[in-house]
Amino acid sequence: MRNFFAENQIEALLVTSDRNRQYLSGFTGTTGYLLITEKEALFFTDFRYLEQAKEQSPHFTVIDNRRKMLESVAEEVKKRGLKHIGFEENHVTYGEYKSWLSRMEGVDWVPTAGLVEQLRLLKDEGEIQKIRKAAEIADSAFAHILAYIKPGVTENEVALELEYTMRKLGASAPSFDTIVASGYRSAMPHGRASNKKIETGELVTLDFGAVYEGYVSDMTRTVAVGEISPKLHEIYRVCLEAQQKGVEELGPGMTGQEADALCRDYITSRGYGEAFGHATGHGIGLEIHEGPTLSLNSEIILQPGMVVTVEPGIYLPGVGGVRIEDDLLITEDGSEIITKSKKELIQLG
Ligand code: ZN
Ligand code: ZN
Repeated sequence: MRNFFAENQIEALLVTSDRNRQYLSGFTGTTGYLLITEKEALFFTDFRYLEQAKEQSPHFTVIDNRRKMLESVAEEVKKRGLKHIGFEENHVTYGEYKSWLSRMEGVDWVPTAGLVEQLRLLKDEGEIQKIRKAAEIADSAFAHILAYIKPGVTENEVALELEYTMRKLGASAPSFDTIVASGYRSAMPHGRASNKKIETGELVTLDFGAVYEGYVSDMTRTVAVGEISPKLHEIYRVCLEAQQKGVEELGPGMTGQEADALCRDYITSRGYGEAFGHATGHGIGLEIHEGPTLSLNSEIILQPGMVVTVEPGIYLPGVGGVRIEDDLLITEDGSEIITKSKKELIQLG
């Protein structure tokens, strides 16, 4: 972390992002700033979180901000005579920034972006274990939900049952608003569950995940209810082949762009390039969308320890859509699939 100080010409970094604070300190509460200097690590929080911060963040000096964060930070900055302080430009409001300028005159506030996020790209063994567990919960919930999906049940009911099941299995929350998109709605890549009833002859796309000890999983499966049209069979097959190609060939050393092309070129070669309008994948960790991105213009080089999704889709407005998504750990010689649910077309009912 402090390696970044010299190149950014800063003596300290003020961390205001919730997830970056959690990553650096282990603290899971919702309020607190970190001030990291060359020699010290300060944690500002209020009365509600003092005990929790001391327990979860033993490497930090916890400071009671007495509910005046600005005053408290200004005091410690002044005591240490800090003049060049980095801040996270993507995690500060303009109002906060203005208040720092006026309260701490003489301090040069240096905007930084992605410093902690860069560290978060590579997961350690403990983080990987938590993601594995989050994926296992999603897999079990998927196995459970198959018996629940039938004609007449609404998308919302399916989403609720999925989320309830994940909570029962140990998730602290769903990792994002569960997507259940059936029939014509499956052509919407991000069709959040609605009150639409599932009907026979439809594809149903389920995109969901669990949060386990702060870390997330993210999985998509598309299932058929009853007999589906030859066209839907075809797009399912093409999407599955593209996804399989993606997960088989993904590995360290390739760029995000090259990883994206594994699926995209295949879908394009089958004539559905126009129907695949989003990125192939993204990193997961403390957040559902973090680096690295697997997309058309991503130049990041994949490395062992990164955890990414591979999720090609084909969407035909008015007809239906398919998406299949797994979570993968990039390894020394390729990748390992973390989500284990079956991908061959499941026909229910
Ligand atoms: Zn997803
Ligand atoms: Zn995803």
